[in-house]
Amino acid sequence: MFDVSGGVILAAGKDMHGLIAELYPLCRSISGEGLRETLRILRGRIPIEIREVPTGTKMFDWTVPDEWNIRDAYVKDPRGRKVIDFQRSNLHVVGYSVPVRRSIPLGELREHLFTLPDRPDWVPYRTAYAGGAWGFCLSHNQLLALEDGQYEAVIDSTLGPGSLSYGELLIKGKLEDEVLISTHACHPSLCNDNLSGVAVATKLAQELMGRPLRYSYRFLFIPATFGSIAWLASHQGQVGRIKHGLVLACVGDSGEITYKRSRRGDAEIDRAMQHVLRRSGDGGRIIDYVPYGYDERQYCSPGFDLPVGCLSRTPHGRFPEYHTSADNLEFVKPGALAHSFATCLAVIDILENDTRYRNLNPLCEPQLGRRGIYRSWADQTDGGKDEMALLWVLSLSEGRKSLLEIAERSGMPFDIIKKAADILREHGLLEEISA
Ligand code: ZN
Repeated sequence: MFDVSGGVILAAGKDMHGLIAELYPLCRSISGEGLRETLRILRGRIPIEIREVPTGTKMFDWTVPDEWNIRDAYVKDPRGRKVIDFQRSNLHVVGYSVPVRRSIPLGELREHLFTLPDRPDWVPYRTAYAGGAWGFCLSHNQLLALEDGQYEAVIDSTLGPGSLSYGELLIKGKLEDEVLISTHACHPSLCNDNLSGVAVATKLAQELMGRPLRYSYRFLFIPATFGSIAWLASHQGQVGRIKHGLVLACVGDSGEITYKRSRRGDAEIDRAMQHVLRRSGDGGRIIDYVPYGYDERQYCSPGFDLPVGCLSRTPHGRFPEYHTSADNLEFVKPGALAHSFATCLAVIDILENDTRYRNLNPLCEPQLGRRGIYRSWADQTDGGKDEMALLWVLSLSEGRKSLLEIAERSGMPFDIIKKAADILREHGLLEEISA
């Protein structure tokens, strides 16, 4: 269905990879300057508002935590050499580490060091939201090379009242009804897990800003869990406007697409994604909702029950690079980003055009030939094949079935069914039923 090798889409893939490379060095977390700087960089591309929710704000069963910031961190060995250095990679510090400045013997230091013995060259990504914790991450080979003696451990961080930041953009369409696109932006130098979603969402916003739209589109760039809870808690009155939604996460690796249905399981977004993936001919699998994953857990919680699914390629935790230094700029591919982007656009195309029609000539079949409809069809399609689409649309347009349902019932692609509806409408045989 998609020509990912096509010029425009391929250029989009390179552009998204470029944005990931720009954001990669920043030390993001669920709060703090790294997250804010990320949002400022996005604001250079799309006009997001940066919102701040103060520490201590109650949001349902949760409270906005203290803000964490870090300037520097390192470990010096007994000879004074920096053997672990935050300036080389922000993954070396356990996120939310409290400030530390100590002389410490290796035996004790080890309790604060985290490695991946199975992947001895990779550095793990760790966070410690529990009070008072601190630590460093390093490769297992690095750990094995440490000699006995007295070390110096320094973490120049602050943890105190501040705020939780997130980015929000509303692109207005004809309707107040909204499509929600949400992605987490709270991980440090990790590309597939966080930056790929950020890049695809940004590109989608750029693309949609230039189009006439039926729906309004709300983009959220948020710290995972806390951000979606903060948004839901402060927008309870308008949540009902969200008619469809997608969480984007891990959309840049070269694995095939995985779509996780909304909790409802048969929402229009679920059926639209299923239609796109089945028709695309380039793989993709659909899995049922489970209450574990990304922010769809909050959007789909029973009190909200929003029709929000989650689009990934290889799901979180299913690729060995997940939450390690190997989730880097080489792990995410421009072609995969482009394919994820094109998949989202194909789904949006269905949502934008999935309307219901009424057949204005329901008493026996209208004469399509006399009206010149077959000629129009042949002119506007590839020599007139798939003209059964005209009959399917007429047959099922009693005002109850949408074009997507007609596409599913007929086994024909949505864009062909849409084309048939357009031609029939132009010839006065259909009228659109307003939502
Ligand atoms: Zn993660």
